[in-house]
This record gives sequence, C-alpha cells and structure tokens, in this order.
Amino acid sequence: MEIRRDPITQSWVVLGHREAGDETDCPFEKPAIDKQQTILSWPAEGPWQVRVVPHPDPLYRIEGEAGRRADGIYDKMGPVGAHEVVVETPDHNKRMSQLTDEEIERVVWVWATRVADLKKDLRLKHVTVYKNQGVLSGEEWPHAHSEVTGTIFVPRRIKYELRASREWFREKERCVFCDIVRQEEKLAKRIVDVQGDYYALCPYAARVPYEIWVLHRQHNHLFEQPRPGSNRRQLAALLGRVLRRLDKFAPAYHLVVHTAPNTRNKKGELAGYWKTLADDFHWHIEILPIVESRSKSYSIKETYFNAVLPEQAAEYLRSVDPGS
Ligand SMILES: [Zn+2]
Ligand SMILES: [Zn+2]
Ligand SMILES: [Zn+2]
Repeated sequence: MEIRRDPITQSWVVLGHREAGDETDCPFEKPAIDKQQTILSWPAEGPWQVRVVPHPDPLYRIEGEAGRRADGIYDKMGPVGAHEVVVETPDHNKRMSQLTDEEIERVVWVWATRVADLKKDLRLKHVTVYKNQGVLSGEEWPHAHSEVTGTIFVPRRIKYELRASREWFREKERCVFCDIVRQEEKLAKRIVDVQGDYYALCPYAARVPYEIWVLHRQHNHLFEQPRPGSNRRQLAALLGRVLRRLDKFAPAYHLVVHTAPNTRNKKGELAGYWKTLADDFHWHIEILPIVESRSKSYSIKETYFNAVLPEQAAEYLRSVDPGS
C-alpha cells in the first residue's frame, strides 16, 4: 500500500491491494472478536455494548514512518495512519437505526472519544468517522459498524470545506454553517427534522437525492469536544429518526462526520488554518443515501446531477414515519 498525490487536484489516493478475507464468519461474534485487540470497550466491565477494534485489513497502519518523498515530480508516502472499526452493537441482526436513543448516544460518544484520542498523535492531520450501511454502499460486513480513520493528510473534500469556510469568514466574519442553519431555520423548506438544538436538513445543493446534513445550532468546530450544555442524547434521537426514515426507502447510505483537522502540529499544510479555524469551521454529519430506482443520480466527474430537488426531498422525508 502507498499513498500518492494527484498533482492537479491535490487529492491523496491510497493505492494497493487489500486481502480478501474469508467472509464466511462475522469477525465481530464470539469467539473471533475476543481474539482481536480491544481499543475501547463500553462499558469497561461486563458484556460490551460498543467495542472498537483495529480494522482487520486496514488501509492505514499506525506503525512506520510516513516518509513523504518525491517520486520524480510527484509526491508519495507510506500508508501510515489509523484504521479502526466501531462495532455498534453485539447484536448481529440490528442496524444502527434500530438501536435505542441511548445506544446511539453511546456510539456517538465512542466516535468522539476515538477522534479525540487519535488527534493526540501529532502525525495524524485528520480524523474521520464514517459508516457504509447496506450492500450498495460497499459495506464490508453486515454487522452494524462504523469506521474511524486517522490520516497523515487532509482529505480533499475536507480541504475544500476548510478553504470555503475560511473565505466566507474572511468576507463576512461569520461561520458559513451557522449562516446555513439560521437561513434554513427561517425558510423551513429544507428542514427534515429538529431535536433540541440539532437540525437535520437537505442541503441547498444536494449532491444526491435525499442527501441530509445534521448540524448543531451552536457553533463548535470540534465534534469530539461537545460544548458544556450540549445534549448528545438529542443528537442521537435525531440521528435515529433520520436513519429510520431512510430505512423505509434507502437502506444503503454513506454517513460521514466532518470535524476540524488536527492542529496540534503547527507545521505543514494546516499552517494557514488555525488562526480562524475555531471560528470558521463547524462540525457536521453528512448522510448520502443510495437510491437506485427513485431517480438517477450520477456524477460526471466534475458536476453532480441530482433529479430530486432538496425542497421536495425534505418534504418527502418529513412525511416518512420515523417510528420503528
Ligand atoms: Zn456479527
Ligand atoms: Zn458555526
Ligand atoms: Zn462536510
């Protein structure tokens, strides 16, 4: 495995072959799971409810030197980083959407705990939490799980977001995400659901049908550091309702948590960011449903085409009963 940089788009691409494991047995059942290293287990004592283990066939490995080096005019580095699996429930047959609010809150807490912990590693510039749900999403195992990766580069989409947020802040001295929440709140057209200070909405320029963002009304650039008084049970309740709505017509989706990059290491490509980062970036969750039949959505590389207007998507999503 190695990581190469596209000199034009500046995206880092992981290249290499991944071993196809024998997928007959679920690696998260006893006794298999007990043979794996436990990174985090909740609760600490007794039978676990949420457990974090190293990815059995990781894209990135924590050992070794990044060794960023030139390859002629190009840049490449070794596959250094972290790749963990969050097993969201011991129950093989439950989806995240079927967990209780309390159980989802626990998973969200585990996500945050792992992000905070991995950010202590100065080599890691960015930590991402994501979840591929359903066969069409490319999920690796049917057992409910999410993944955490810590990378020695900032993924391109995040870089775009950081730049755009910084530009917006430079011009208006306001956070673009806070502005989005205020405007959407006022219009109400694209709001899907609200719980306390947490909002689920279809973004103005949704890339795929029924794309949903989950945002906190209160400004905070760090997902892993909830501000005093923020109630993550509300976030969990909202997330559960959103996912149960999707269950009814789009059981496959990608979910990704976007939080600010790691600024502990004040050298390198983030050097320009941290001065306003805490003011201009705002953590959020993006959910990209995979809907096959309802409408064709495709990316012709540079431009997304989405046949479902986000206003219609939000109206439809509001009408779907989130009760299990
Ligand atoms: Zn299982
Ligand atoms: Zn904000
Ligand atoms: Zn984002």
